[in-house]
Amino acid sequence: MVGAGPAGISAAIWAKRMGWEPVIFERSRCLGGQLTDFSLPIVDLPGLPEILAPELVDRLRKQLQDLNISVEYGCQAVSFTGQRLVLADGGEIASSRMIYAPGVRGRKLEAEGIEGLADTSTSQILASAQPRDRVLVVGGGDRAVEAASRLAEANIPTVLVHWRSVLRARSSFQKRLMMSGADVRMPSRVCAVRPTEGERVRVEIQGPLGVESLDVSHVLVRIGMEPDLTPDLAQAFTQMPHRVRLIGDAAEPTCDRSLVVAFASGMRAVKALVLDADSDMTTDPK
Ligand SMILES: Cc1cc2nc3c(=O)[nH]c(=O)nc-3n(C[C@H](O)[C@H](O)[C@H](O)COP(=O)(O)OP(=O)(O)OC[C@H]3O[C@@H](n4cnc5c(N)ncnc54)[C@H](O)[C@@H]3O)c2cc1C
Repeated sequence: MVGAGPAGISAAIWAKRMGWEPVIFERSRCLGGQLTDFSLPIVDLPGLPEILAPELVDRLRKQLQDLNISVEYGCQAVSFTGQRLVLADGGEIASSRMIYAPGVRGRKLEAEGIEGLADTSTSQILASAQPRDRVLVVGGGDRAVEAASRLAEANIPTVLVHWRSVLRARSSFQKRLMMSGADVRMPSRVCAVRPTEGERVRVEIQGPLGVESLDVSHVLVRIGMEPDLTPDLAQAFTQMPHRVRLIGDAAEPTCDRSLVVAFASGMRAVKALVLDADSDMTTDPK
């Protein structure tokens, strides 16, 4: 398994049930994938109402330990040959099947100077906020609107910039945003980010009345997610579909990305690979 998020974990549990010896390779140092980013209780998992993400991660860790499934941390998978999984540090692991559960990554904003911006998160900004901080959030979906609401609710001056005239976020999130005191600018788009003296950056925003410059301490880009695919692993998925399965958020349209779908995709992938392996054995003349 590549990826220790909900999909990879579920696939490993199912692989063990089907009599295989799964090992999970995870590039980060933690279990849970996006579960490590949750700030609110999870309300939509059947049987586990209001569970907090750290508790769910602890339960998943215990379940893996009880099943003797090992998780190798700090191991970034880069390619799969059909016989071996190759890691970024040059390590190779003998394996004839791979389940690839890499999750998603934030889409990049196209604007001059944006490459120089340090990546940060809402939680990091909240934890280190200084009195004169001002944050620019870019985007109009759930993630952008939730981030802007949380920051503004914490009394951090927050500007939300969205390129359309209407937000895409669900209506309850939009109501929260309106109550939060965040300054919403739309339709507007970020056209350049320039360094200034000191810690701030100067952002040029094109709005209906022209270009405006805004000095901010942080820029949070939340303009959607895309599958976090490593090219050679993605190629293996198309070249050897009977040996490789892509699962979880990376395989789903945006509207279906969720914990229950990630868990279910692990089960479906393992069962399909087991069926393929069985038919390989019955058709192999040796
Ligand atoms: C803030 C937030 C709140 C959410 N709230 C909910 C909710 O309430 N309910 C709900 O159902 N869903 C929620 N979700 C969505 C849910 O978390 C995802 O649908 C789910 O985590 C997807 O699981 P996954 O295993 O596909 O991907 P991920 O959780 O993203 O895990 C992928 C893992 O793969 C690893 N990886 C990637 N590439 C490699 C590689 N080459 N080698 C090794 N490791 C690699 C990554 O480091 C990561 O750990 C939320 C998401 C966020 C961010």
